[in-house]
Parts: sequence; structure tokens; C-alpha cells
Amino acid sequence: MNEIHLGARSFDRFEPLLSAERYAQTLRAAAAIQLRMRGRVLWNVNSSAVGGGVAEMLRPLLAYSRGMGVDARWLVIRGDAEFFRVTKRLHHALHGSRGDGSALGEDERRIYEDTLRDNAVELLGHVQPRDVVLLHDPQTAGLAPHLTRAGAIQVWRCHIGHDATNEEVERGWQFLRPYLSEIPAFVFSREAYVPIFCDHGKASVIQPSIDPFSPKNQELDEATVRAILVGAGLLDGPLPDATPPIFEREDGTPGRVEQHAEVIRLGRPPSWETPLVVQISRWDPLKDFLGVMRGFAGVVDGGAPAGAELILAGPDVRAVADDPEGREVFDAVVEAWRALPEVVRDRIHLVSLPTDDVDANAAIVNALQRHAAIVVQKSLQEGFGLTVTEAMWKGRAVVASAVGGIQDQIESGVQGLLIKDPTDLDAFAAAVRRLLGDADLADRLGAAARERVREQFLGVRHLLEYAHLIERLDDASAPDEGS
Ligand code: UDP
Repeated sequence: MNEIHLGARSFDRFEPLLSAERYAQTLRAAAAIQLRMRGRVLWNVNSSAVGGGVAEMLRPLLAYSRGMGVDARWLVIRGDAEFFRVTKRLHHALHGSRGDGSALGEDERRIYEDTLRDNAVELLGHVQPRDVVLLHDPQTAGLAPHLTRAGAIQVWRCHIGHDATNEEVERGWQFLRPYLSEIPAFVFSREAYVPIFCDHGKASVIQPSIDPFSPKNQELDEATVRAILVGAGLLDGPLPDATPPIFEREDGTPGRVEQHAEVIRLGRPPSWETPLVVQISRWDPLKDFLGVMRGFAGVVDGGAPAGAELILAGPDVRAVADDPEGREVFDAVVEAWRALPEVVRDRIHLVSLPTDDVDANAAIVNALQRHAAIVVQKSLQEGFGLTVTEAMWKGRAVVASAVGGIQDQIESGVQGLLIKDPTDLDAFAAAVRRLLGDADLADRLGAAARERVREQFLGVRHLLEYAHLIERLDDASAPDEGS
């Protein structure tokens, strides 16, 4: 296992963002959890330190926990390509989709268990009784039976799910169920994701959150946004003289974007004035990059309002270890792009973002989201959709599919526009056109979106919910008085 080293971040910065009452309540909860967790470690185990929503959330949440005085740590499991092929298949199944259509049978179970057994040996070397272990997602569920023996208090948090059950969802749960039987608590992102066999008394719903101060979401002024995007090769120059492409790193130290994105495009990068429609995601079939591209072709067909262009961006596929499909999806997107008529292709840019420096990657994503005229997330399925929250916090107008957790974030017509049927490309194109042509509407939706995130989707709320969960688990596992 790899331990990801984390700094500590102070909560003080939230004061100006919250009401006095909410801030005071948070401080009280922080003091209580520090006391409760004294001498205990809050372990978090997942399968990747970069790329994807879970890693994105863990980093700040754990740093704030450490800032509160809780010994929160992060371990990343190790696995080979075969293991991650099985877990990716499971990931798709829980999203209700077939993925590569491969089996989830005894051979896959053996691959899964063998890898996790090796990881468990290392994990058990660290974990002590009364520690709290948060296992994230299907990749780690098979660690649970090993941990039960160590006397740790376990929580399995599943960040994905499907609104309705189907054959694939059942197949996924059937595979995972044997590992979950002794876990005392589960966390899901939506009520609809709680599987039928799960004791509802053990399940909590905790919605994901973002950190407003992370490199991904911190305020960047316009000149800095421009310096970052021109410097990374995403916008046409010249580089602004006076403003360097700088940001604050996760650990509070200064950072500078020096990386270049690799871009597949026909001509020059878009100019600063070009309205950009942007989707940023992992290269995953469920993010439907192909659909975004085809839908955008429909926008261009009618004469793209104000000469809008599309940027599809994701992590450089060579870098993301737990996502073996990335390369295939990226290649398929490139191939489909090549087949488009030149007038359409000319307006579409395929971007591989460098991931060697996680903070710099985040700063580029931040700048891209801030500069977008419209952020789209045309997912076919979405556990929650952090990219949506990120764009909303930046006051962007969002066009997204009404799937999964996106429905909990956006009320269509109020904080963004939702497409009821994610495969309806005409509706998607119409929504994009509407926003491109109506700046007032885009501004109104963006402003409401930011408020929604302030109220509901900042890490403060998330940490309080974790604190309550740990409190409940402690109460439930405390020996009966008098026995
Ligand atoms: N992301 C990133 N760099 C990239 C592409 C994506 O940091 O090159 C981030 C994105 O900003 C978001 C996360 O990856 O924070 C994706 O989370 P989301 O919930 O949208 O989807 P998931 O990947 O968890 O399915």
C-alpha cells in the first residue's frame, strides 16, 4: 500500500464563507471529534491518489481533519492490471452498465481476493483496535473481513450507484455482498443507491463536497486564469506580461503552472474571446464524451452562436493506474473526432491534462472551468458528479444530464439546465444554444448555483456528518454498561 502524506489545514478560512452560527457549530463539533479520536487513527483506504472524485475529496477532507487534531491518514491499495480490470467491471455493474461485458465469476473473485489479501497484510500492520477505517468503493470492500479480525471500526463508503436496480447492478452486489456482511456502517451518496439487502439502519447518506480553497476551486482572478490557460497551451497567446500563472498549493505553499497540455486540434487554440463549452472528466464511457461531441456538432450545424468551441478534457491516459479503460475511450474519442466534418472538427479540442503535478493539474482544471462559457456534464450515469459542483461554485452555467447525484445538485432552470434523457442529443444541443444565446440566463443560473454549493456542498457539512457517524458507531460499539 502507498501512504499519501497529508498536511494539516486550518478551519479558520471558512469563517467568511459561513454564517456565524454555522461556523460556531463547526468549531464545537471539531473540538468534540478531536477528543473522541484521541489516540485513534482515522484511516481512509481507496485505490487511487489522483484522477477521480474520491481522491479529489479525500485530500482536503483529511487535511482539515488533521487540522482539527484528528490523526487522519490515507492509504492507497496496490493492484495489477487484472485486478483493476475486475474492479472497473464492478464499477460499471454498480452503475447499471455492462462495461466490457466480462464475467464476474469465481476467477474474478480469486483475482480480487488475492490482491486484497496482500494489501490487508500491510494494512493490519498499521490498524489498531478502536481505529476507524473508512474503505472507499468496490476496490476496497474485500479488505473488510480481514479488518474485522483487527477490531477496527469499519465503514464502507460507496461513491457510486444506480437509481434503479437492473441485472448488472444485481451482479455487482452479488459479487460484493460476501465482504460486506460484518461491516457496521455504510455510506452512500444517495438514498436510491442503498442496495436492497443492506440493513437501512446501518446505511447513511452523505453527499460529497468540494473544498473552496483547494487548487481546484480557489479564487483565481481573470489575468491568472488567462496566464494559466495560455501557458498550458489551451488558449492562444500572448502570455500576459505582468501576471504569472500562480496558485496556492494544497499544502499552502505557492505553486506555478509550468505544464503543457497535449491537445489534439486542427488549427490554433481558441482565443480569449471565444465562448467555450467545456466538459472535464475521466475518459470513461459513462461520461459520454462521444455524445458531447455529437451533440456539439448539432450546435455547430445550426451555426454555433458567437463562434463557440468545445473543449473535452481529461487526465493524460498514460497516468491513471486504476482506470484501464481510459486509453480505449480516449482513442475512440479521437477516432470519432477524425471522422467529423472539418467545420465541426475545427471547433473541437481534445485535451490531455498533465497529471505529474496534482496541484498544477487542478489549477488548470480550475482555470478552464472559470473561463468556460458553459460547463457540461453529459454523463449517462453519475454517482454524484463533482465536476458539476466545481463548476457551480465558480458561478458557471451548467448543462448536465438528469442522472444520479446531479439531480440532487441542480434543479433544472434554477441552478443550471438538466437534460432529462442523457442520450437526447437534440435536447442537449438546444440547451447549449439557449445558454450561449442568453447571457442573462447564464449569469442567473450561475449565481444561484454558487449559493447552492455554499449552502450544501462545502466540506464543512461533510466533516460534521462524518463526526456524527463516528459518534453513532462509538455508541453502538460501546460495551453495555453493567455487563
Ligand atoms: N479531474 C481532474 N483532472 C482531470 C479530470 C478530472 O482533476 O484531468 C477531476 C474533476 O475536476 C473532478 C474529479 O476528477 O474533481 C471527477 O469527479 P466526478 O465526481 O465528476 O467523477 P468520477 O471521476 O468520480 O466518476
